[in-house]
Amino acid sequence: MYRRAGKRVTGGIEGGALWLEDWHHWFDSEACPRLMEDLGLNMLHSRFYKGMGWQFESRDFPHVKRFVENCHRHGVRALAYVQFSTLYYETMLAEIPGLDDWAAVDERGRKRTYHGGAYYRWLPCINAPGFEPYLKKLIRIALEEGDFDGIMFDNCGVPPCHCDRCAALFREHLAGLPDPEGRFGLPTVDHVLPPVRSGYGEIQDPIYQEWIRFRCQRVAALYHRLYRHAKACKRSAIVSGNVANVRRANVAGAAGLIAADLADSFDVFVSQSGNAPGLTDGCVVNRVREIKLSQALGTDVLALCDSDAGISPGAESAYVLTLVEDAVFGGIPTDRTVIKPSPEMVSARLIEFRKPLLRRFNEAVRRGRAGLERPTYAPVRLLYSRESEAFSEQSHDATLSAEEILLRNHVPYGLLPTDAATPLEAPADCEVLLVCDQRCLSDAQLDALMRYAQDGGRLIITGQSGEHDESYRQRRANPLARLDGRPNVVRRAEVDAAPIKSAGWTIKVAAPKDGGRRLIDDLASLWSPPIRIDAPATVFAEVKRDEQAVSVHLVNYAQEPVGKGARIELDADTDAAPRVTVAAPMEGRDAAPVAAQRVGGRWVVEVPPFAVYAVVDAAPTLR
Ligand SMILES: [Zn+2]
Repeated sequence: MYRRAGKRVTGGIEGGALWLEDWHHWFDSEACPRLMEDLGLNMLHSRFYKGMGWQFESRDFPHVKRFVENCHRHGVRALAYVQFSTLYYETMLAEIPGLDDWAAVDERGRKRTYHGGAYYRWLPCINAPGFEPYLKKLIRIALEEGDFDGIMFDNCGVPPCHCDRCAALFREHLAGLPDPEGRFGLPTVDHVLPPVRSGYGEIQDPIYQEWIRFRCQRVAALYHRLYRHAKACKRSAIVSGNVANVRRANVAGAAGLIAADLADSFDVFVSQSGNAPGLTDGCVVNRVREIKLSQALGTDVLALCDSDAGISPGAESAYVLTLVEDAVFGGIPTDRTVIKPSPEMVSARLIEFRKPLLRRFNEAVRRGRAGLERPTYAPVRLLYSRESEAFSEQSHDATLSAEEILLRNHVPYGLLPTDAATPLEAPADCEVLLVCDQRCLSDAQLDALMRYAQDGGRLIITGQSGEHDESYRQRRANPLARLDGRPNVVRRAEVDAAPIKSAGWTIKVAAPKDGGRRLIDDLASLWSPPIRIDAPATVFAEVKRDEQAVSVHLVNYAQEPVGKGARIELDADTDAAPRVTVAAPMEGRDAAPVAAQRVGGRWVVEVPPFAVYAVVDAAPTLR
């Protein structure tokens, strides 16, 4: 794969490098997993099937098997890389003469190829009859013969295919829907063609909406069958997949992926993006949004940001920040040392640079495990509507903006995913529910929101929430208007907006106007939080708590010491002073007791300046 590309791809080796095979031999030797063990790394995605045809690739299989054995000998679990979305026809056509039929085509019948000018990589039509059995065969070989610990599907996104087969399946999908005339203005759907449209915006075209629904359903159903197949081959198999940045704009329309629909088909989401944490263009680039969505869906997440921080000045804090963000917010900490080739096979300088950092990180996690393992405290929930995010860029932007305000103001929050077909219920620990310009909500979803508010639940509703149904069709009147005037409800037309500089490969949201004062004031008008965190906007907080203690984790994206540190006010559940410790373990400061001061009925803790990460543990917990 590297050789065919002839260049460096995704941080790997120069594909044309004359020492490629030498490196390859090094990677397959015991030296590689031994190094991983030495660095404290315990799991990897490893090559198995790149999409070039199994007859050809099976020549490499004896080496792959030996590599997996070596990994197991050093306590490293290996997941088999299985290419999902590329047919390398130059090799594969020799094995499968009918491969033409497996390729996805655009509306003019031209084969779709992989982005970035890879003309030699056809994208697949997932509805081609031969495609799924072929993947199942590979999964079985990896798990049963290769002794892999799991599977990693790469490039899970599926672009639209306009072949006759997909067009017929789409019409079948449309024919199964009630009232075509009421919905589409068409007496029959027999002559409908797959829509030619791309981009996001406000998606109100009913046929285009169904094209997205149809594609997402087919993709999700296929992944679910593959998941069940993998588990049938090996019950303990871990199924991971690169489902693209799960928070990317228009990921449903462009790639046929909706994270909520995929949660029961993957044990691990690989959420690949350009979201290397840090300050860029005045934006706090982060992966917190991806991690929070995955957490709300109950799926582990490896938020891969392709940041190979290297060893340049400033690289240390960037490298550490990525690890810390994962540990604090709940992602899987990731390192690429063994997959970063060098003419010395692996750079001695790189190891020298990273080894002490990884050691310190592992030690910090080991010592701070209790504080990291407590459940996330998320009294504020943000409604995350499947249909609104799929069909409305305005809704997507409103969600990004509201989160930016909550993150910069250190309000502990979580997402509440909801879809039109499943009953909506606010969790018992939700103290305030935000519905921010979610434009596509069903009658049942609105009924649930009304019941929540009528039972005393605190609710903030903004923008056009409630004005349209789940298919973005305008209602005659907004039922949520009946909540106006209740003391536990704020409803307003203005939407909180932060400047969104990009929402694709990298999500960049700049500081909201006035720091998002209006939303913060609305929150304050309904709710008195038991914890208040005062820190610079470029420090994000994650609060975790259980019956024993509350842990406030502070991550500094500015990567330079926070001038005056931070200040935390606790409404503790006893009148006795809480026992408080503060640590900055990545800076060599172990947990040390700090006296909490009584101020106006609350306990106040001052956190001294820190560069990357500080954690405050207080027992007993919040009131
Ligand atoms: Zn097709």
